Amino acid sequence: MVRVRSSLEELPAYVPGRKLPGAAALASNESPYGLLPGVAGRLAELAGGVSRYPDMGAGSLVRAIAGHHGVDPERIAVGAGSSEVCGQLLHAVVGPGDEAVFGWRSFEAYPILTAVAGGTAVKVPLRDHGLDLDAMAAAITDRTRLVFVCNPNNPTSTVVGERALLDFADRVPENVLLVVDEAYREYADPALVPDALGLLGDRPNVVVLRTFSKAYGLAGLRVGYCVAQAEIAAAVRKTQVPFSVSALAQEAAVVALGEQAEVARRAALTVAERERVTATLRELGFEVPGSQANFVWLPLGDDSARFARHCLDGKVVVRPFPGEGVRVTIGLPEENDAFLALAAAWSG
Ligand code: PMP
Repeated sequence: MVRVRSSLEELPAYVPGRKLPGAAALASNESPYGLLPGVAGRLAELAGGVSRYPDMGAGSLVRAIAGHHGVDPERIAVGAGSSEVCGQLLHAVVGPGDEAVFGWRSFEAYPILTAVAGGTAVKVPLRDHGLDLDAMAAAITDRTRLVFVCNPNNPTSTVVGERALLDFADRVPENVLLVVDEAYREYADPALVPDALGLLGDRPNVVVLRTFSKAYGLAGLRVGYCVAQAEIAAAVRKTQVPFSVSALAQEAAVVALGEQAEVARRAALTVAERERVTATLRELGFEVPGSQANFVWLPLGDDSARFARHCLDGKVVVRPFPGEGVRVTIGLPEENDAFLALAAAWSG
């Protein structure tokens, strides 16, 4: 009989946001605006070609990403979503007995993918809803191979500023990979949230993670990437499942990268709505940390599951983290209004 690794029993499950037809989908931090204008047409053109394997090296996409960031294409590695790139990074540097350090709570794939790679997750509790970088630096041991800094942090939406990120990077030994996960970068104010690539990109152990799932509106196609030093990017490419990034995903991402003005316009709409939602929630008496992402965090503690149920009953799907809080994605104005009406009914 085939034996499944016993460690899988302890593996936490990734809980995806619920899908409810007809409800406002504010549980998964997706873009509410649908496809960028050029993307749909290009996908239709390509549909007939999907009987063939995609370009395994994702050459056009890699060149487009490299051009976008002004770096050598050798420094790019792509994957089926930045979740897969997280896994690739872990497989590249973490083995049995090795540790990966990250704040907790943070992106829920980190502990799962660390365990899948055979490593040990070291979860450092947040302070005031944000990453506690001092405690994270103190948690680094001889066994640490990788540290995740999620900036802005999912699900709490808080950020690490430039000085703090620089100081932290100085405290991460050069043989430890420092992965700055910037999945929500496009929603962040550059004056408040450092661009890790500009700030730390020259360091040998720094990797910046980006995705097409959020502001680029391609969550369902699965494409993400990292920018790292060439040797690290090469190692990450080696750990990729062959052909994991489909031809449609590659082409859609190339088109999306070319539509920066529309990406920025949509992100600005989300940011304006985020500020409106935050202000209204605060007026209603909710504690809401300032967000630099496309979602807000309501630290409702033991009320979290009940609040999410209340929203679900009102046809708005949000994401509860029972005992901790509720994460609410910023949607279209009318979806946000529906959510705010439910929040008002809850507090009133
Ligand atoms: N990093 C963070 C912080 C995220 O919140 C997410 C998605 N929830 C991802 C990475 C992965 O996104 P994807 O795999 O769709 O690129």
